[in-house]
Amino acid sequence: MTHPQQFASDNYAGICPEALAAMVRANAGSTPAYGEDEWTQRAADAFRALFETACEVFFAFNGTAANSLALASLCQSYHSVICSAHAHVETDECGAPEFFSNGSKLLVAQTETGKLTPEAVRSLATSRGDIHFPKPRVVTITQPTETGQVYTVAEIEALSATCRELGLRLHMDGARFAHACATLGCSPADLTWRAGVDVLCFGGTKNGMAVGEAILFFDPALACDFDYRCKQAGQLASKMRFLSAPWVGLLESGAWLANARHANACAQRLAEGVRELPGVAPMFPVEANAVFLTAPEPVLEGLRARGWRFYTFIGGGARFMFAWDADLARVDDLVADLHAASAQALEALAS
Ligand SMILES: *Cc1c(COP(=O)(O)O)cnc(C)c1O
Repeated sequence: MTHPQQFASDNYAGICPEALAAMVRANAGSTPAYGEDEWTQRAADAFRALFETACEVFFAFNGTAANSLALASLCQSYHSVICSAHAHVETDECGAPEFFSNGSKLLVAQTETGKLTPEAVRSLATSRGDIHFPKPRVVTITQPTETGQVYTVAEIEALSATCRELGLRLHMDGARFAHACATLGCSPADLTWRAGVDVLCFGGTKNGMAVGEAILFFDPALACDFDYRCKQAGQLASKMRFLSAPWVGLLESGAWLANARHANACAQRLAEGVRELPGVAPMFPVEANAVFLTAPEPVLEGLRARGWRFYTFIGGGARFMFAWDADLARVDDLVADLHAASAQALEALAS
């Protein structure tokens, strides 16, 4: 059954043609299990080519597992992880980072935006140096952030310099990493290891796959025994080719970037479309595929009445997320309905 397209979540989208075609090709015949197959080799090689380095690559089913296991691999149980108060690892992973690390504590920075700053990292990392406090060991940043802001290369370099100085590792939650690359127009290498990132979780699901995230270790020594960690956590796919082949489809065709560019362009279209609308405004700079709109409650009600679905869990604003399949005509419908709802709300006020 099909419904009019909604933009409540970028996970509403289906599988993009490139990923699906690769899955269908991988479905032909029989292939060795548990990642011993050619698709998995080819996907890992495609990541090494894209990132211009001999990184270690692993595949997990979802982002919660990828983030949690990556962080656990960087920590002992008595360590701590510095993150933003808005970080997915803090607010949306049900304690999985603490669980998989056997207790590494998340130290939450209250920053003005969702972005971490070197000052915030330094302040948390140096707040205590005694035996009674979990020892800071890792900094994790989300690129782009949960509210759609992108860290520039310079910002990542500044963070990683602070990390190195304080003996911390730098992890990047890249659930929408492709969207950040599309925004900045710079290479994946420049945004990660060349800027000092140690481990990247690269999101496939929100980039057009059915399921799957990749974990990239830029320092192979850090990947020691990570395969055992994945297996123990139930993240080793027996028919691994169905997790890895879609990456071949995305990376070798360039769809990973084209999908992200399209999603970002849809966000820009919405932001442009409401620019002149009184009372309606983006809550955050629109730098990736997300638009959070503040609007008077009657306007949001008017949107709901016109059939639109959206979440308001961040500051009461309406969240719209665009995926590879977002239909520009539907984005224009949303803009038109926002204008109509706004006019109706103003009329109701006047009468
Ligand atoms: C979607 C998302 C994830 C992954 O979530 P899962 O539901 O576990 O796949 C991780 N980080 C961020 C910032 C996300 O938006």
